[in-house]
Amino acid sequence: MPENCIFCKIIEGNIPSSKVYEDDKVLAFLDIGPVNKGHTLVIPKLHCETLFDVPDELLQYLITKVKKIANAVMKAADAGGLNIGVSNYPTAGQVVPHAHFHLMPRHAGDGLRHWPQGRYAEGEMEEFRKKIIDEL
Ligand code: 5GP
Ligand code: ZN
Repeated sequence: MPENCIFCKIIEGNIPSSKVYEDDKVLAFLDIGPVNKGHTLVIPKLHCETLFDVPDELLQYLITKVKKIANAVMKAADAGGLNIGVSNYPTAGQVVPHAHFHLMPRHAGDGLRHWPQGRYAEGEMEEFRKKIIDEL
């Protein structure tokens, strides 16, 4: 466990958190700075920097817990919808370098907006399609 990882400290119980679910592999707790009330973080207990570092088997298990907990968060917050988000690397806005799913309850008219959308120039979409396929 890296000494300076705040989420590992939460897992170890060295920093208090408002836990909503825990088992031997997964922990879920309320985000200290909620987008909307009930905003919950779901993390693997294994320290993994990003989603890409989570072993497949653990990720499969984790996503089943994300689904179950997200459903509970939505009901508890009496929300009309819920966003699930994962930021990977600081460039994408990841602040805590321990992989985590954000479960964010949404309410009609809550003022939150999705990311802005751009457009492709002629031929560019096909270029990106091919580049992604080459990486797969
Ligand atoms: P990121 O920006 O890395 O995707 O999200 C990190 C999240 O962790 C933020 O939403 C932030 O509010 C939350 N957070 C950071 N430190 C703590 C903490 O000590 N306790 C809790 N409960 N949440 C934290
Ligand atoms: Zn960690």
